[in-house]
Amino acid sequence: MKYSPIIGLEVHVELKTKSKMFCRCSADYFGQSPNTLTCPVCLGLPGALPVPNAKAIDWCIMIGLALKCQINTESKFDRKNYFYPDLAKGYQISQYDQPFCENGYIEVRKEPNSDKKKKIRIRRVHMEEDTGKLIHEAIGGENVSLIDFNRSGVPLVEVVTEPDFENAFQVTEYLQELQRTVRYLDVSNANMEKGDMRLEPNISLQKTGEKGLPKYKVEVKNINSFRFVAKAIETEIKRQEEILESGNIPLQETRGWSETKGTTVSQRIKEEANDYRYFPDPDIPPIKFTDKQISTLKSCLPELREEKLARLIKLFALSYYDAEILTREKSVADYFEEAVRVGIQHKVTSKQIANAIINKKVDIDKDLPATLVKQVVTSSLVTQVDESDLQKVIDTVLKENQKAVEDFKNGKESVIMYLVGQVMRQFKQKIDAMKVKNALLSRLK
Ligand code: ZN
Ligand code: MN
Repeated sequence: MKYSPIIGLEVHVELKTKSKMFCRCSADYFGQSPNTLTCPVCLGLPGALPVPNAKAIDWCIMIGLALKCQINTESKFDRKNYFYPDLAKGYQISQYDQPFCENGYIEVRKEPNSDKKKKIRIRRVHMEEDTGKLIHEAIGGENVSLIDFNRSGVPLVEVVTEPDFENAFQVTEYLQELQRTVRYLDVSNANMEKGDMRLEPNISLQKTGEKGLPKYKVEVKNINSFRFVAKAIETEIKRQEEILESGNIPLQETRGWSETKGTTVSQRIKEEANDYRYFPDPDIPPIKFTDKQISTLKSCLPELREEKLARLIKLFALSYYDAEILTREKSVADYFEEAVRVGIQHKVTSKQIANAIINKKVDIDKDLPATLVKQVVTSSLVTQVDESDLQKVIDTVLKENQKAVEDFKNGKESVIMYLVGQVMRQFKQKIDAMKVKNALLSRLK
């Protein structure tokens, strides 16, 4: 390879707090009628003052802790100034030089089918507010743009990496782990279809052997699918390679991903941080934490994926392979543990339960753990009865119970249950009564 890709990533994660970041409006805007969840604060009306959402800040710090960041005990909010119709105030409240969290990392696999790991450094995790939403529509034959401010002011956490990714695979690995982390923390639904996670890779190419970062960087904005990010990165690598091969340097710019065109398209020439005229928001005092407050938040962290994985292996003697699958989603791991608890009373092993879940023998969104246990019990019973053993026992029972057989032939069909009982008594373990009944009926008929 003549060039090595240098890839960084910014991810916006929407928190699922009850209320918005700086006002008391509901943050649960999905599917609500436009402009019904608004107030003077999130509409940017004159004189309205923001009050930070303490829960959102706690959750931002918990994300930082889970991503192994240092937490800044002195922090503040800044104004990021720019004009866009979906930004009512003319600025976004964000964090500039004192984010809540810095210097963390996520470990990813370097390549598919490899155990080699790579640390992706996380530069910062900061808190900000979401914008409104523009809707472009044709009404009465006229193209119009409509604005819905329901999303304006919803808490967003931005996670920014160093340019440590070498390829699209590592980016996908990172995104899955980040999504998992916020779901384990229960601070975001991280639902891609609903726009809970928005992804912005930046990509440039470096001539192999050259030191230092390339002189340009292309950012691809607002992608809402892991698959599209991978595609955008791959097409961007090709596009930049062609430009470099022709002796030019790609423009430093912001591009968008067009799924219909299957490529990235230019949006605007990239602005610098100083274009935004960041300055401390005079409406919000600086925020300070004591070490005690941070360690309290740390102790409130739930069990995260890594710990759960290790515990399941140890406690239930699972293989790494099984535990890895079971802990991909917290809901699946919880389901497994509940099913094991129920299963103990029915002598169902954790391995049997793991297999049933991994082989999708149950729909965990519909079937209760107890239903799964019942299924395992039934299916394992049926397989435990050897067909020829069963036939031999039936022979003996029918011989020893001539009177009952006679009654059955004379129409007293209820006697079948007595015969089923006689057969089942001959087996040490409990066996499937339905199977026995059917076998008996076909013999008698
Ligand atoms: Zn509001
Ligand atoms: Mn941002």
